[in-house]
Amino acid sequence: MLLGISYRSSTQCPECAQQVPVNHARARFHCSHCHATVDRMQNERAWWLGFSGEFATRYVLKRPENDVGQINTPKQHLEFFRGPAACPSCQQPMQHEALLAGAAAGTFRCACGFATPCRDAEPSLVQAFPYARWLLAEGPEAGDAPNAAQPILMACMGCGAGLKVDGSSRTVDCIYCKATNYLPDGLWLRLHPAPRLEWFFLVIDIDPAALAAEQSRSSPFDDLMLKFKRPS
Ligand SMILES: [Zn+2]
Ligand SMILES: [Zn+2]
Ligand SMILES: [Zn+2]
Repeated sequence: MLLGISYRSSTQCPECAQQVPVNHARARFHCSHCHATVDRMQNERAWWLGFSGEFATRYVLKRPENDVGQINTPKQHLEFFRGPAACPSCQQPMQHEALLAGAAAGTFRCACGFATPCRDAEPSLVQAFPYARWLLAEGPEAGDAPNAAQPILMACMGCGAGLKVDGSSRTVDCIYCKATNYLPDGLWLRLHPAPRLEWFFLVIDIDPAALAAEQSRSSPFDDLMLKFKRPS
């Protein structure tokens, strides 16, 4: 049977100390603030716990459905809940075939028209969490990819000639007067909107007998469950 685990995470970048949303389960993230690439294994214990071995297998599966759990440390925040593997738009159960096709194409498409990024869980995640199969609705790896579908035109501060700005760099050199133009904050933010905290989904495939066995097995994380309260 297919089950969905929803995750939402933010973490403090070790390079710039900003709290940044990380809307995906990849092992590295790109800081949207200072552009550092951060290895999450080194940085985020909450992330590691939420997706790995004992915790993900036992703790998440043992929680009541739709009961939101949180892992908070001074620097990290991870929320998660287990629900049905259902389309967030029409609520119809997701089908194996559609998920297989979605991972192959990079986009899951529901019969209702809803579409979202989809990929196979990578081998390291499956090794840590044997029932992990697909990841959906993840944000881009580089959260600060330029947002400009088409270059924006701006006047050169030096000579007034038109400059084409595509968001790939904060400075743009004028081909006429050679002046270096530093893009103003408003324009830069429009090209690089700050990412928001978004839910993404892990679909797991587990047969009912294995689920019952996981739920009845005692775990070192059982005590931890008492510390997490249902949000009001
Ligand atoms: Zn940073
Ligand atoms: Zn749908
Ligand atoms: Zn110029």
